[in-house]
Amino acid sequence: MSTDQTVRLQSILKELHLNQTLAIFEEEAQKAAKTKMSYIGYLAKLMEEEILYKTDRSINRKIQVAKFPRMKTLEDFDFGFQSGLNSKEVIELSNLRFIDQKENVIFVGPPGVGKSHLAIALGVKACIARYRVLFISAKDLIRDLYASLVDQSTAEKIEALSRLHLLIIDELGYMPVDTEGANLFFQLISRRYECGSIILTTNMPFDQWDKIFGDQVISAAIIDRLAHHCHIFSINGCSYRMKDKLPPEN
Ligand code: ADP
Ligand code: MG
Repeated sequence: MSTDQTVRLQSILKELHLNQTLAIFEEEAQKAAKTKMSYIGYLAKLMEEEILYKTDRSINRKIQVAKFPRMKTLEDFDFGFQSGLNSKEVIELSNLRFIDQKENVIFVGPPGVGKSHLAIALGVKACIARYRVLFISAKDLIRDLYASLVDQSTAEKIEALSRLHLLIIDELGYMPVDTEGANLFFQLISRRYECGSIILTTNMPFDQWDKIFGDQVISAAIIDRLAHHCHIFSINGCSYRMKDKLPPEN
């Protein structure tokens, strides 16, 4: 191709935001000439590469905005270590039908048993499937809701959170929540009820949630909505963090 044509094509590709094609079209043209590839074959190859690049970028962006504290996958979760956990049911969640059906998932158990790991892993799967996801600790979520009271943006904040396909609330129960916080949390849970999925991790079984929220009525109302369409997993094994510190089994 003449230099003039190359420059013209470069400017067209830039204008069309076909950045991957722009980066590789010359090299691919040389390869195509060598292998006597057809014009259509060459064009198809470029377009395939462009799609791969754009998909990759859009998934990376989804993962970035989801704000996972670290990366975890279901593939590196050792289900053998948590033998009490129904691995089949957890793995089944990765088909993400629970998100389409606006169902919730709750992982309950003591520290270190992999609750956050599983929540992140499912969140990452959801990002790959292009769902809008946010991971946030219960503490930060309630702090943000509180902050919205100051400039009266609570309704806006709750609306923004309701636009997510999947909201992951991590570590409910480590900190007590006062009446105002419990109320705000209830508003959020009610708004997402049957509208969008929540994955929640907690160290507290339901019968102790009144201790988190300091009030039986509000905690019952929160549980009622969260648990209605919900997959609940109680993980009661040992902490994975202590794995190498445990005495060997005999
Ligand atoms: P929790 O949220 O229940 O307190 P985490 O999910 O933070 O526990 O797990 C603690 C650490 O142990 C993390 O690094 C996690 O990846 C790892 N972990 C926990 N359980 C498993 C498991 N069954 N297989 C592999 N890694 C695990
Ligand atoms: Mg955790």
